[in-house]
Amino acid sequence: MPNIIKSAHAELYRIPLKEVLTDAKHGDHTHFEVILCRITTEDGQEGVGYTYTGGKGGQAIYTLVNDEICPTLVGQDADAIEAIWHKMQWDFHYVGRGGILSFAISAVDIALWDIKGKRENLPLWKMAGGASNQTKCYAGGIDLNFTKDKLLANIQGYLDRGFNAVKIKVGKDDCYEDVDRVKAVRELIGPDITFMVDANYSMSVEKAIKFGKAIEQYDISWFEEPTIPDDYQGFAEISTALNIPLAMGENLHTIHEFIYAIEQAELGFLQPDASNIGGITGWLMVAEMAKQANLPVCSHGMHELHVSLMSSQPHAGYLEVHSFPIDEYTTHPVRLEDGLAVAPDIAGTGVVFDMTLMAPYLVK
Ligand SMILES: [Mg+2]
Repeated sequence: MPNIIKSAHAELYRIPLKEVLTDAKHGDHTHFEVILCRITTEDGQEGVGYTYTGGKGGQAIYTLVNDEICPTLVGQDADAIEAIWHKMQWDFHYVGRGGILSFAISAVDIALWDIKGKRENLPLWKMAGGASNQTKCYAGGIDLNFTKDKLLANIQGYLDRGFNAVKIKVGKDDCYEDVDRVKAVRELIGPDITFMVDANYSMSVEKAIKFGKAIEQYDISWFEEPTIPDDYQGFAEISTALNIPLAMGENLHTIHEFIYAIEQAELGFLQPDASNIGGITGWLMVAEMAKQANLPVCSHGMHELHVSLMSSQPHAGYLEVHSFPIDEYTTHPVRLEDGLAVAPDIAGTGVVFDMTLMAPYLVK
């Protein structure tokens, strides 16, 4: 029996952060945006999908989902998730390959997986692979603007909440200031806490190598986006020069970019983000590619969804518990047990927005 889509629309929310968060290249974050996609089938089932931004671009994604893609969904079979995924890619490929299109497709795809889970009465961690219902995780700070004292207090806060892995931003103009912050964090957390750094592609290849060599002594588990994500050869050069694995993925927005990155960039970890790689369908494609390449798959952002995807995979690395607290606007914020994040046992994606909390931030 086909499960015919009766209606689909988008909603845009703009939610203020509690404080300004800064990294090396995106500048100040004051808000994040959530673009919801609601799809209803003729038998009355509703699926909710979403994507997010760091505060810019949400209007364009909203328009693409609501005005361009949603009308093409009506009358299609909601169970034909992969067919719809490919149709969206090709319908809009000429104007939108990668970039905003990948965000828009993600919101739609996640809504379809939500419907599938509700129909089959299965939580996402089981639908997506079922390896486990929990995953290793780390707290991902957006803290480049924090003074050293505030940086350390923030890291202590993560430890107090039960995290046993943390990441900080780097990319100060003077990279020896970054080295000093890395040293201070390692001294605070001691030898047993996993520690990563993220430059948000702010460094030249030469600077990344210089900085990387200076922090090798602090047992860094990965160096994320040292340089511009398109420069796969530059990544390979940095990787060859350093004894620290490299990580990237949040800025790879097509499957083909991941293919090239795996082949050329000498990465140690892949970090696809279901909000911008074509939803759950795209994320699982990258997870499979990571498995074939013997690389751990990780995640970026939207931890309330990725907690289930990461748990489902036998080769999962670390879930990022991101500094945009989208999960605080859902009925099931991410929960830690002995340092591991636990996937919810809710049929569907497990992400149920609390519309009372969201309503004040509705833009359109
Ligand atoms: Mg990052």
